[in-house]
Amino acid sequence: MIGAGICGLSAALWLRRAGQAVTLIDREGPGAGASFGNAGILAQWAVVPVNAPGLLRQGLGYMADPDSPLFLRWRHLPHLAPWLMRFAARANDRDTRATARALLPLIGDSLEQHRALARGTVAEKWLASSEIGFAYPGRADYAADSYGWTLKRDAGFEPEVIEGPAVQEAEPALGPEIGCLALMKGHGHILDPGAYMADLARALEAEGGRVLRAEARDIVLEDGRVTRVETDAGPLPCAAAVLAAGIWSGPIARKLGLAVPMVAERGYHLHFTGARPLPRRPLMITRGKFGATPMADGLRCAGLVELGGLDPRPSPRPLKVLRRHAARAFPGLAHEGAREWMGMRPSTADSLPVVGEIGRTGVHAAFGHQHVGLTAGPKTGRLVADMIAGRRPNLDMAPYAPARFGRGRPGD
Ligand SMILES: Cc1cc2nc3c(=O)[nH]c(=O)nc-3n(C[C@H](O)[C@H](O)[C@H](O)COP(=O)(O)OP(=O)(O)OC[C@H]3O[C@@H](n4cnc5c(N)ncnc54)[C@H](O)[C@@H]3O)c2cc1C
Repeated sequence: MIGAGICGLSAALWLRRAGQAVTLIDREGPGAGASFGNAGILAQWAVVPVNAPGLLRQGLGYMADPDSPLFLRWRHLPHLAPWLMRFAARANDRDTRATARALLPLIGDSLEQHRALARGTVAEKWLASSEIGFAYPGRADYAADSYGWTLKRDAGFEPEVIEGPAVQEAEPALGPEIGCLALMKGHGHILDPGAYMADLARALEAEGGRVLRAEARDIVLEDGRVTRVETDAGPLPCAAAVLAAGIWSGPIARKLGLAVPMVAERGYHLHFTGARPLPRRPLMITRGKFGATPMADGLRCAGLVELGGLDPRPSPRPLKVLRRHAARAFPGLAHEGAREWMGMRPSTADSLPVVGEIGRTGVHAAFGHQHVGLTAGPKTGRLVADMIAGRRPNLDMAPYAPARFGRGRPGD
């Protein structure tokens, strides 16, 4: 199992529970990637991909907005262009609805999936049941989001919309800039995603799995089937492997003949420690395109999108913009300090993850979950474990099939 983010940890736990011997490796230890610093929201409703109708109009609008939540590091444009073209080509009603239909089974029961994953383990304490609130400046802004809400309603998610003074009565932490709140019950969030990952790794060890700090360098096939993973800590013989290395899965998959159009949608967080007053529930601050989540040790504001490669250094501008948006949404917020973080969402051009066996190599993909990896990880892990254990998943896997991006040569 390569990569101890939410996808690798979930697959490892379910595979172990299916009676398999499991070794999970991560070059930095569990929860080092996007799974560490996300907004912690189990976004069961998030069936609408970023590349929905209106994408181009919205993108152009952002270019003229000094507080835009979208950033582009221009020197990366030549590398990004082919992905951007494929991504934008799907920003139509037909493809968006198809994506929404395919995402729902992976995310729609996320809270239950996390509960099943963590039940009875040390990780269980990080799960919280909550409402989710979408915070808009006013009713007109909510109405402007009607396309997305139609698709959410079609998926079974109906909001209760409140306006005016009722907004601050329901959510006293919000300032006067927010005049409309769309609330949905029956959701959940993670109180500390980094600690949750570390505890899921502990749970795996407690259940007899092995967790190693090692970097996968290559996956070796013999007669078309995986026989070992080469790592900087030596070879790991195996009969099956799972590639769950988030954005870093791409180059390894390419060696197996799978060219996934995937880029890093870089995202940022500001984590206000000791913050008061905390919002009562996770909130999506729609104008700034970030989630604001009450966590174990403060308020985490996480989101934005920066297109611009795998450079691990954060850019200063998105953090400044996020700080301004957070100050406007929560003008009365007192805190002890603000931790800054940047992470990379693994985003495919069709906004669907890559889950399933690569050809007939015995190597299974479990990556590419873009904005909803924390939400979809446990279900993804279950599906992968089912496939490796020889159980047929009770779900049409075709939308996630690696084969949509090429054959899993050699060995196909
Ligand atoms: C700002 C932000 C906010 C977000 N908010 C949410 C949210 O609220 N809800 C939600 O559902 N999703 C959210 N996401 C998306 C979510 O975080 C990701 O989709 C998810 O974490 C991806 O998980 P993963 O396991 O695929 O990858 P990762 O968590 O990135 O894990 C990959 C792991 O692989 C390891 N690795 C890489 N290469 C190798 C190698 N060669 N050998 C060994 N190990 C290797 C890395 O060290 C890393 O630990 C957010 C993302 C960002 C950036």
